[in-house]
Amino acid sequence: MRNLHNALLLKQLYLLRELGYRYTDVTPSDLEPDPVELPDTLESLEKTVTNCHLCDLSKSRHKTVFGEGDPHAKLMFVGEGPGATEDSTGRPFVGRAGELLTRMIENVLHLRREQVYIANIVKCRPPGNRVPTPEEALTCRPYLMKQIELIRPRIIMTLGGTAYRYLTNDETPVSRVRGHIIRSEGYLLIPTFHPSYLLRNPSAKKLAWEDLIKVKELLNTL
Ligand code: URA
Repeated sequence: MRNLHNALLLKQLYLLRELGYRYTDVTPSDLEPDPVELPDTLESLEKTVTNCHLCDLSKSRHKTVFGEGDPHAKLMFVGEGPGATEDSTGRPFVGRAGELLTRMIENVLHLRREQVYIANIVKCRPPGNRVPTPEEALTCRPYLMKQIELIRPRIIMTLGGTAYRYLTNDETPVSRVRGHIIRSEGYLLIPTFHPSYLLRNPSAKKLAWEDLIKVKELLNTL
């Protein structure tokens, strides 16, 4: 898979930079052919993730957090990365932010958590809940892209800036893009605020609720 190969190349380049190299003769042709393939089932992909040691987050994690939900879900949520509760349980969005996300799914979308799919940009907890570095996010991104390829959701809601940035490569702040319906390859992407942000800024909940209503209306047309 090209993305994973690029991520590995990026990791190598970071390593070379740490070792003091400023130039290297790696050229785009070195990217061909791509030797790295990811498995074609969610079960095997989860095993690959469980055994992943491609970045430093693997050193401090307790459990990988692959994602969970309906493997054929029409709606997928993508967050940033596991927190402490997720790291100890291996499940996404089960801490305080997760409780809010669950309420959003149940009370606004009138769905059960098990009817959607929930995943993150990075599958291992960044220590102290810091934002994943670009290297960590780009190294892990191929796993998310493969999950999307296998689940084939019709709508993806990104939760917060990190999820939006690394899924779209667009640096626009989430406050400016939230609620927009962005046509992407095979799905509609609707960014909204991260539940942790909503816990700290309850006045923004009204806007997030509006974004969810939009998703609900779209789901009814699919
Ligand atoms: N925040 C996230 O972005 N993801 C989780 O799984 C939990 C909290």
